[in-house]
Amino acid sequence: MKPFEKKVWLSTPTMHGEELNYVTQAYESNWMSTVGENINEVERLTCEKVGCKYAVALSAGTAALHLCVKLAGVKPGDTVFCSDMTFGATVNPVVYEGGVPVFIDTERDTWNMDPVALEKAFELYPQTKVVVVANLYGTPAKLDEIRAICDAHGAVLIEDAAESLGATYKGVQTGTFGMYNAISFNGNKIITGSSGGMLLTDDLEAANKARKWSTQSRENAPWYQHEELGYNYRMSNVIAGVVRGQYPHLEEHIAQKKAIYMRYQEGLKDLPVTMNPYDGENSEPNFWLSCLLIDREAMCRQVRGETDALYISEPGKSCPTEILETLAKYNAEGRPIWKPMHMQPIYRMNGFVTRQGNGRARTNAYIAGGVEDVGADIFQRGLCLPSDNKMTVEEQDAIIEMIRSCFM
Ligand SMILES: *Cc1c(COP(=O)(O)O)cnc(C)c1O
Repeated sequence: MKPFEKKVWLSTPTMHGEELNYVTQAYESNWMSTVGENINEVERLTCEKVGCKYAVALSAGTAALHLCVKLAGVKPGDTVFCSDMTFGATVNPVVYEGGVPVFIDTERDTWNMDPVALEKAFELYPQTKVVVVANLYGTPAKLDEIRAICDAHGAVLIEDAAESLGATYKGVQTGTFGMYNAISFNGNKIITGSSGGMLLTDDLEAANKARKWSTQSRENAPWYQHEELGYNYRMSNVIAGVVRGQYPHLEEHIAQKKAIYMRYQEGLKDLPVTMNPYDGENSEPNFWLSCLLIDREAMCRQVRGETDALYISEPGKSCPTEILETLAKYNAEGRPIWKPMHMQPIYRMNGFVTRQGNGRARTNAYIAGGVEDVGADIFQRGLCLPSDNKMTVEEQDAIIEMIRSCFM
């Protein structure tokens, strides 16, 4: 096999042309700042698509999460339960407000926050009043169960739907299950503005606060008058133009991503691997990233340090590092599973709750001291596959062959 001449990426922006029309419109009308028709329109389109009452367009999903955390009333020293296996931006905003993330282990059915571990966490940290749940790789978490647990404990739920725009759970769009919710239009997401994000809520007062905070908290006065802390978080009308042009293609992108997932599932079915799982009865993911998990028996030896990895190749077996290196050799981009937050140096002293209770596996071993650390296990055995919309069937077939060769 020859390396691809053109790199096959994990996930890159897929543009269609309409984006340029709306950007040009912004340019020609000189609405080049954080006010304009594109912003109004993408907020309207988002409410229409997702089914929320209010959407506040912001500079990033991270900014949206920060304002969610502020709206939820997180104060210095407050514990906040957070998804563990997620991107750092899910949890960093908690720390911006002085909150203390406590990480909740992952379940095996959807690779998201485990409701059983969440219930356990409320026993261990009963004072907790805020929960942040992410829908990893576009797959909805067990959102009803998680919301019911939050309700039972009087906790506010924040949903990080940055990766899952367009995915549904029991027929309802993600980004509506929390009191406050965030989506992202970052460059690698299912649709993009090159950057950007939104805060979604059904609470008018909360939406108005977020809008005000995002534009430097200016009071209604002839001069710059400030009563509270402000931020420069509003979305630009130029970025909004890109998002506006992308929206008509959201469902098309999801269909492409789903086809990619299904082709991997079919092409890899006789190998000792499984795809990232979802609850097909209750949810329809947006299939943003296709991932695989190597069976335990089919793992060759792999050791990961903080910033590097080693493995020993074995016939019939493989590991994420071998597969990622093989893909890279052929000019294709995969990525390790998002490294769980409780394994990150910055969060190593924070609480971590598994089904068994307080768990702190400090090594790559998936069982330490009798505690099963599901996140560490999936990180050890899993990887994200090239999932770009623009990947051709031929390229994907070749990628499947590359993966196959690793198990020879
Ligand atoms: C991308 C992402 C974010 C942050 O969104 P930005 O728009 O990049 O700030 C937050 N959470 C998750 C799970 C993400 O994947």
